[in-house]
Amino acid sequence: MSAADTPRKYRPATNLVHGGTLRSQFGETSEAMFLTQGFVYPNMEAAEARFTGADPGFIYSRFSNPTVAMFEQRMALLEGAESARATASGMAAVTAAMLGQLKAGDHVVAAKALFGSCRYIVEELLPRYGVPSTLVDGTDLAQWRAAMRPNTKVLFLESPTNPQLEIIDIAAVAAIAHDGGARLVVDNVFATPLLQSPLKLGADCVVYSTTKHIDGQGRTLGGCILASEEFIQTHVHNFLRQTGPALSPFNAWVMLKGLETLPVRLMAQQANAVRVADFLAEQPGIERVLYPTRKDHPQHELAMRQMSGGGSVIAFDVKGGKEGAFRFGNGLSVVKISNNLGDAKSLLTHPATTTHQRIGPEARAESGIGDGMLRLSCGLEDVEDLIDDMKAGLKSLG
Ligand SMILES: *Cc1c(COP(=O)(O)O)cnc(C)c1O
Repeated sequence: MSAADTPRKYRPATNLVHGGTLRSQFGETSEAMFLTQGFVYPNMEAAEARFTGADPGFIYSRFSNPTVAMFEQRMALLEGAESARATASGMAAVTAAMLGQLKAGDHVVAAKALFGSCRYIVEELLPRYGVPSTLVDGTDLAQWRAAMRPNTKVLFLESPTNPQLEIIDIAAVAAIAHDGGARLVVDNVFATPLLQSPLKLGADCVVYSTTKHIDGQGRTLGGCILASEEFIQTHVHNFLRQTGPALSPFNAWVMLKGLETLPVRLMAQQANAVRVADFLAEQPGIERVLYPTRKDHPQHELAMRQMSGGGSVIAFDVKGGKEGAFRFGNGLSVVKISNNLGDAKSLLTHPATTTHQRIGPEARAESGIGDGMLRLSCGLEDVEDLIDDMKAGLKSLG
């Protein structure tokens, strides 16, 4: 294998095509898929050197594999991070990033508006192992400050949030964390690495579900943890190596190829989202549209400051509550009904009855997730067909 190609001097789109490539002796153009569990050594001395670390080569695919390494290196270049580790899913990334840093007696503060499974980790799983947590309204910096305790070790947030697309001030929360001797972890799925760089804003660690825009075509599950080399070595590497939530080389290969087209896909999906959001905002059947870069977004200014675009997801409230939302959704044909996002196919979700059903009506009301709220992940279809579909939804709304 030739050494990893690490063109840090190039711009993101170039790194996404070439970054991290490891070529075998065959000189293949497209990255090879190394479907292998292990590796053989030319002699006993070479095996010994691999295990002492004197030779940094591959040992076992639970913790290192050439295809996975290419994906990690390309992600690190994109994020501007020193180091990256891939995981089997976004939830494996979140769980490892949290558990890897924490021990009994520590305390966690997190924003309430979290992806459902992330909320389970913080609210239910960590306390079972002696790590209590405090949930705050992430947009209220005073609540973050008030929640800090001497033993607070990790702050955790998502921005924009799901599904309300609230914007949390990452730089301000990072400063609160560091003042209190804690570290900030940001789940950057909705923004993607192209539209927001939490590490540059002061976060210590960024996690992704690469299942979303990075695969981008709805095929495989994956995750990634990005941070400084020191952070990865201290908190993440051994945890992953010994507990084994490894990304399969096949899935890593799909993600690696997904990264090549991420900028063109994301920009096209974002352009569709902007058009659809602006269209919906003019319609009498729609009570409210939430999209970060629209002037009427409650945190428009902050969104413009910390993001370079609003992303591919919009949220909106239709008139008539649950019944209205169901009628609207059932009137669509191009847009598919699904709880996923970041796909080439446009996908519609009714959070109150699906992704946010479990948290109950009070928590939903508190988070501003009404019965009439719909989340739309805009795909790569012709935007005129998406607008026609919205018209059909509005028609069935009556
Ligand atoms: C999807 C998602 C996750 C979980 O990722 P999986 O790949 O499904 O495990 C975590 N956080 C956010 C914000 C997500 O959208």
